[in-house]
Order: sequence, then C-alpha cells, then structure tokens
Amino acid sequence: MNAPRAPLKLLDDALAELLAHVQVIEGQDQIPTFDADGRVLAHDVVSALQVPPQDNSSMDGYALRSADVAQAGASLRVTQRIAAGAVGTEVQPGTAARIFTGAPIPSGADAVVMQEDCDAMADVDVLRVNVVPAAGQWIRRSGEDVTRGARVLAAGQRLNAAALGLAASVGLSTLGVRRKPRVALFSTGDELVMPGEVRPADMPPGAIYNSNRFFLRALLQRLGCLVSDMGIVPDQRAATIEALRTAAQHHDLVLTSGGVSVGEEDHIKPAVAELGRLDLWQIAIKPGKPFAYGRIDAAHFMGLPGNPVSSFVTFLLLVRPFLLALQGARDLVVPAMEMRADFQWSRADRRREFLRVRRNAQGGLDLFPNQSSGVLTSVVWGDGLVDNPSSRTIAPGDTVRYIALSDLLG
Ligand code: AMP
Ligand code: MG
Repeated sequence: MNAPRAPLKLLDDALAELLAHVQVIEGQDQIPTFDADGRVLAHDVVSALQVPPQDNSSMDGYALRSADVAQAGASLRVTQRIAAGAVGTEVQPGTAARIFTGAPIPSGADAVVMQEDCDAMADVDVLRVNVVPAAGQWIRRSGEDVTRGARVLAAGQRLNAAALGLAASVGLSTLGVRRKPRVALFSTGDELVMPGEVRPADMPPGAIYNSNRFFLRALLQRLGCLVSDMGIVPDQRAATIEALRTAAQHHDLVLTSGGVSVGEEDHIKPAVAELGRLDLWQIAIKPGKPFAYGRIDAAHFMGLPGNPVSSFVTFLLLVRPFLLALQGARDLVVPAMEMRADFQWSRADRRREFLRVRRNAQGGLDLFPNQSSGVLTSVVWGDGLVDNPSSRTIAPGDTVRYIALSDLLG
C-alpha cells in the first residue's frame, strides 16, 4: 500500500517559511566600487555633494545674459572661453562666453545658446545670436541629479552597473557589501556522469550527463555566492554523511539536487536527518514539487528535485530569494507583468504552473511545445515563465502573468 500523500504546500507558504529561517549573514567586505557589481550593499550611500556640483552647460555654444538678446540678431562681444574643467569670470552686460558641454556657467550668465543658433565673426570676437533665448535654457542645474545629503543607494540594494556609476558620481571608490554566502553544491544520482569524463559515444546504458551541476553552479555564482562544488556524492551512506558534515561546517548553505522524491531510496535524506533535521515538502508547483529544507549545525540545507527543469525553476523560486535574503537584500521577489497569451493551454493542473514561454514580435507570448520537467531546451528557448494559477486553462488572447527569466537570473 502507498504511504498517505503529504498535503501539498503552497509556494508562497513555502517561501515564507524558508525566509523565516533566514538570519542575514554577519560580516561585510569593504571592496572597490569597481568590483561591487552584483553584491548587496551593507549601508546606505548618502551624498556629500551636489551632482552636478555646479550649474553647467549642456551644449557647446555661448553663455550669455538672456536680457541682452531681446530680438534675434542681437550682437554680443565674446570675451572669454570656458572649456569643461575650466572656470570663467563674470559675464558682463553685452558680452558672451564661448562655452563647452559640461563647463560651469559663469556668473552673470543665465542661458546658453547653442553654437548652431549663432554666427561667430572670425577675428573680431563679435557674435550674432539668431534666436531669442529663454532664461535657463541649456543649463544643467547643480544638484539636479543628486542633492547634498540625499540617500542615493539604500542598504540591501543589489548593486548593478548603473548603481556603481551612481556611487562613483558621489565620490565613493569603495563600498561596504555583505559577505558572499558560502554554498556547498552536491549532485546525487548514480546514473550521473560528467561531461568530459565519458564521451557521448561511450555512455553506458542508463547513464545521463550531470546537467544540474552546471546550471546550479552558474546560478549560485550570479547570486554572489562562493561555491564549493563537491561534485557527485557517491551513493554510500558513510560517504554522504561525511560529505554533508564537512560541508556544513564551512558553508552557509548545503545545496543538493536529486533524491528528494517521495519514497526514493537514497542517502541524502537519512543522512541529513541523522546529522540535523530535515523537512520534506511537496510544493504545489509544476515543475517542481519535491523540495527538502533542513539544518545541519549552523548550515542550512536545501534539496532540489533532480529533474533539470524542476531543479532550475525551484532554484529560481525558492533558493534565489533565500540567498538574497541571507545577504540582506530587500527585493526578493521578481514582479510579474501582465501579457497576452498567444497560445492555448488546455491541461489545467491542480498545481500552480510555471510555463516556459517566449515573447513574440506581436507583443504576446508563445509557449514552448514540450513543458516536461526534464526538457532543458524549454528554458533555453524561453525568455520567461508564465505564472499560471492552479486549475486554470489559457486561451489565446487571455491575459497571463509573465516573469522575465532575465530578471530572475540577474
Ligand atoms: P530524482 O529527483 O533523483 O528522482 O531525479 C529525477 C530525474 O532527474 C531522474 O530522471 C534523474 O536521472 C534526473 N536527474 C537527477 N539529477 C540530475 C542531474 N544532476 N543532471 C541531470 N539529470 C538529473
Ligand atoms: Mg535520483
């Protein structure tokens, strides 16, 4: 007789439970701003200056007093030349300053006229202004980007290329970021062989290549983790216990793939249970479903399903927010957007489904034809997931919730 089925756990409940176990890892690194892409900021960044520091020209042209040019065709005397990095002197009535983009606006001037709107007479320093300037035109105001004392980046923000530029613009050459989570990664399954160790032509019957190890390692690294890749753990009790025990001592998280299906014979589950504690969850998502969470000493343990797409999607939905939360990040969940389905999905499932889809040129979504949890082609072809509620069919034209893979992978 089959063991009674554990009730399915809702994804949101599973995530909330996981996040309740999180304590932000201690320790931060002060690192060059150059190297901080992808890291989580440990402190607010408050600007000690105005950006731009002073009013400056947004055009190559002439800085002048707008009141001097009441009519197009007015003439002014050019008395100075101000390049970016230089500082001019006061613009007297009836005069103009030749000025270049980024150069500070000299006192007295209240507008810039672009050079295309002027005729400069060679030799005689006389300028004819062919337009009537509005006061303030082509001037970038001091502090229009950042005012002194403003918080430009917040603790818990994940730094990206733009944020590094902003930190640099307020003068920071180093940033305090959360220490990288240390993650030990194992694959389980005696059917697994490593690419490079056995040639495709020589694959023994029943063997498959270990694909999860490759994408899990890459996903972990993208999330700012230091990965100890412990390869394939041999399917022996003593070896499994030993590997888990060692990993737990030096890592914040021990992550495995495979061997968490209900009733499966394997060594990971009893070994984790023996060393610490283990909860086996059946999560109401497809692909996915089996997922293990546990503790071994101070380390967290997570066991992902072996099916590659299940492993991939479960990682993105559960492990990703968990690892970001460990680093003290604030935005854990990627927002979904409403998009039009250009496909039919008739096989409504009791579980919430994450369908592999791709945006098309008509602004809608196409569905990958094979949604099986072993088909990695679907996540390479696709650029997103449709988050489809339990028991919902989809007809062409329906509005669905789309989550961009680029958001989840970034
Ligand atoms: P399991 O979760 O261990 O029952 O595995 C479910 C399916 O995923 C089986 O078909 C396994 O062969 C496959 N699988 C498990 N681990 C991996 C892996 N690391 N790479 C590719 N396929 C895997
Ligand atoms: Mg297995």
